[in-house]
Amino acid sequence: MIIVLKPHPTPQVIQHVLERIEALGFTPHLSQGVSRTIIGVIGDEDKLQVEPLQAIPGVEQVVPILKPYKLASREFHAEESVFEIKGVRIGGGHLAMIAGPCAIESESILFEIAEKVRDAGANILRGGAFKPRTSPYSFQGLGEDGLKILKAAGEQFGMPIVTEVMDPRQVDLVVRYTDIFQIGARNMQNFDLLKEVGKTRTPALLKRGMSATVKDLLMSAEYILAQGNRQVILCERGVRTFEDSTRNTLDLSIVPNAKGLSHLPIIVDPSHATGRPDLIPAMARAGVAAGCDGIHIEVHSCPEKALSDGPQALLPHQYAKLMTELRQLAEVMGRTIDVREGVTV
Ligand code: PEP
Ligand code: MN
Repeated sequence: MIIVLKPHPTPQVIQHVLERIEALGFTPHLSQGVSRTIIGVIGDEDKLQVEPLQAIPGVEQVVPILKPYKLASREFHAEESVFEIKGVRIGGGHLAMIAGPCAIESESILFEIAEKVRDAGANILRGGAFKPRTSPYSFQGLGEDGLKILKAAGEQFGMPIVTEVMDPRQVDLVVRYTDIFQIGARNMQNFDLLKEVGKTRTPALLKRGMSATVKDLLMSAEYILAQGNRQVILCERGVRTFEDSTRNTLDLSIVPNAKGLSHLPIIVDPSHATGRPDLIPAMARAGVAAGCDGIHIEVHSCPEKALSDGPQALLPHQYAKLMTELRQLAEVMGRTIDVREGVTV
């Protein structure tokens, strides 16, 4: 850690800062230049808090040398992490193709969509049973009945499943059904939820909060990792900007950015990022070209009747066409997509 003092510190100020550092059990190294005075602090930076140092009178800036996230960082784990979930590999050149409706609405609708996306080459089935809706009067999801339907569909069509958990009190229930937890954008910093999910050994798909930086996202991943759950998949789903012709703004630069900082896989969700079926294919292709580890897309067989996010759903045939393109791109990029048993694409 490096401490920069305000210009022209008095000898008393310098002495006080040095004493505070020593009192905290660290060794200070003073460097006095013509215009600035800086103090290097040697010791285990993990044990040093920035804020108490920042509060010392005469201190202008405290600059940590290490990243605040450890387990999520490339320093901790140089190789890209690869997770295998029921035969589907994610990360390190293997793409997760997650598809399904926004919400689980009924067995017949989910089974119809599941079969179509699987045949198109999707390898993970999604569907929400607990929905984080902006309005309390909108469809809130089928709850446990929905989880049962999703699990049955996953078994029927040979796909691992992913579903959202919104509250720490739901973790015990959802873990009994799902193969992957989804933590939604609105809950990315629900730290109690992150800790509960971290205590399980079920992988987590962690969506970026609508105004979260890459550092915020990695700090949230760290919460899960720190509890011992080492299978965290990051997801870019767009952030809030001034642009209002799309639902959110897809920040594709986070793909190489997060990959440089972290070993965790990162997937792209162009459905929630754009909110527009006419834009989803181009953004999905761009995600693969940017080097992401998977694409998450909402598909519905009858979007006009969907109970949630119908306007952004792709029709099954549109998804199938896109998957053909994504497979070609993946090949050019030297990446593989694990398809489900019995599927020929
Ligand atoms: C969803 O996946 O349906 C969802 C609510 O996503 P997000 O948390 O990214 O808005
Ligand atoms: Mn949705």
